[in-house]
Amino acid sequence: MDFKEHLTIVENFPKEGISFIDITTLMQNGEAYYAAIEELTQFAKEKEADVIIGPEARGFVVGCPIAYSLKKGFVPVRKKGKLPREVISVDYGLEYGKDSLTIHRDSIKKGQRVLIADDLLATGGTIEATIKMVEELGGEVAGIAFLVELDYLNGRDRLKGYDIFSLTHYQ
Ligand code: 5GP
Repeated sequence: MDFKEHLTIVENFPKEGISFIDITTLMQNGEAYYAAIEELTQFAKEKEADVIIGPEARGFVVGCPIAYSLKKGFVPVRKKGKLPREVISVDYGLEYGKDSLTIHRDSIKKGQRVLIADDLLATGGTIEATIKMVEELGGEVAGIAFLVELDYLNGRDRLKGYDIFSLTHYQ
């Protein structure tokens, strides 16, 4: 399947000069969404993932169906202040200023193989922060799966040494 046919490029969103890849047109097409998740699930299976983790909100759209189909758990990565129990957190740089991502302290066990899932790899900051938390809890990053990778932002360079699979690439 040509997944790019189901993705929509929205120019100047959320601000002037940005070409935003809208995945909602893929999600709203049942065949395309199913086929995309199937491919990422295959990757997760090959990597022998014990648990799937994904950052809010679009990481849930990708990670949860992978977890469901492999009968594995799903761990949500959330912005500061959203998770109700004890968390660990990591600061990560945004274009302007900083923000924090959090996960529950008891969400990943030592030695577990963790598959990280998100919709899109841009600069890699979100996933770099996610990796830090997984490793702080003793998890092993088994692989990282995306629907889309923006090759021109070189996020992959920031994630050297990790096994990355992206369904589609934009040069
Ligand atoms: P990064 O941290 O790699 O710079 O940015 C990736 C994060 O920002 C992902 O969680 C993703 O949801 C969001 N993101 C950045 N650019 C886009 C885009 O063009 N399309 C979509 N769907 N998400 C984006």
